[in-house]
Amino acid sequence: MTIRTRFAPSPTGFLHIGGARTALFSWAYARHNNGKFVLRVEDTDVERSTQESVDSIIHAMEWLGLGYDEGPFFQMQRMERYKQVIQQMLDAGTAYYCYCSKEELDIMREEQKARGDKPRYDRRCLHNSQPREGVKPVVRFKNPTDGSVVWDDLVKGRIEIANSELDDLIIARSDGTPTYNFCVVVDDWDMGITHVTRGDDHVNNTPRQINILKALGAPVPLYAHLPMILRDDGQKMSKRRDPVSVMQYKDMGILPEALLNYLSRLCWGHGDDEVFTIEQFVEWFKLNNISPSPARFDMKKLFWVNAQHIKALANDKLLALIAPELARRGINVAQLDINAILDLVKTRGDNLNTITNEVAYFYQPQVVSDEDATKHLTADALGVLGKFATALDALSEWSLDNIKALIKEFCATEGIKMPQLGMPLRLKLCGTTQTPSFDAVLNILGKDNVLSRLQ
Ligand code: GLU
Repeated sequence: MTIRTRFAPSPTGFLHIGGARTALFSWAYARHNNGKFVLRVEDTDVERSTQESVDSIIHAMEWLGLGYDEGPFFQMQRMERYKQVIQQMLDAGTAYYCYCSKEELDIMREEQKARGDKPRYDRRCLHNSQPREGVKPVVRFKNPTDGSVVWDDLVKGRIEIANSELDDLIIARSDGTPTYNFCVVVDDWDMGITHVTRGDDHVNNTPRQINILKALGAPVPLYAHLPMILRDDGQKMSKRRDPVSVMQYKDMGILPEALLNYLSRLCWGHGDDEVFTIEQFVEWFKLNNISPSPARFDMKKLFWVNAQHIKALANDKLLALIAPELARRGINVAQLDINAILDLVKTRGDNLNTITNEVAYFYQPQVVSDEDATKHLTADALGVLGKFATALDALSEWSLDNIKALIKEFCATEGIKMPQLGMPLRLKLCGTTQTPSFDAVLNILGKDNVLSRLQ
């Protein structure tokens, strides 16, 4: 059997961080099993669905590297198929027309409540479905009345819902359009989905969907309902307070592989492993060792994971990521030994924006802050720098070893401590005191740059 999974976003906004984890788990499970991963866009809510959302979700999946094997399929393009299956169910007697008006249903529910019964459709149209003048009927699914629906959720364990709890669901509105749960069922069936991975806000839909699948004689997939991702403090994440859109993480300088690594650890784990590649994750991932309790999103941890991935990146890859921003700032990286710079700075930041700034000051010194100037660029310090420039100028061969030796000798002769030279020097060369060791900075900048910046 080929494992087939799907990600089925509703295009009513950007790709949410929770949606990304759902997509990741579906994708990884398909990859782990040499299966297929299907992208299906659930766009039947025409009021709220937009092309812009479709594009942004697909763009975010591309950025994350979650490629799909089939799709994107769009539910709005499958209307004929849904109508065909509805007809099939009407013919088979597993669905029926209902002509009841809203008023009639309201009265029915009031009566049921007054009797202390659970409000539910009493099937009056099943037994006596009479076309009514000028009334377009809805179509209801004939839900079994006995027994229960049972499934072994791969995350939540066995779930059992009595059929008496389930209403005869409307599967087509009076205008003939199919309803949400019905579309999902037909799609999962037609697309041969073997494993449904989705947020646990859909748990209530599952028994209804299973009943319809059974009525159609369709195979019932296995379900894995993923727990929510909460904020650090246990509250729900919110658009206003928290970065919930995947692409906000790109803007924060997070690498896609780091975000996937971090997301994979929300409700899943492989021993104590914290930092791993997507290939390792695919190799290790199974749907049945997901924890059923909600995960908490720890921003600090994400940045820590990101730092580890940045450190592990090959220089050419790292450069490709920051090159556009460097170019935008008018920096030509070829003017210095960019590899040597990256070796020095890639352990010095937990996000790409910081790394970009660390690279940039080698090429373009930052503007010295008033505070730094007052503290470090005193008349004494400038005097020291003048002498140091002369000493550097006399250096015959510009190499790290020679620079180190010169610094040592210079400080000894002048009777100063290293930082007394280092701090003003860093400011003059880079505009900041927060640089890697200044002998290395000098070596990378080269004699001409150093002397002209010390002028
Ligand atoms: N479209 C649903 C959502 O975005 C997912 C439904 C499903 O996975 O079955 O929440």
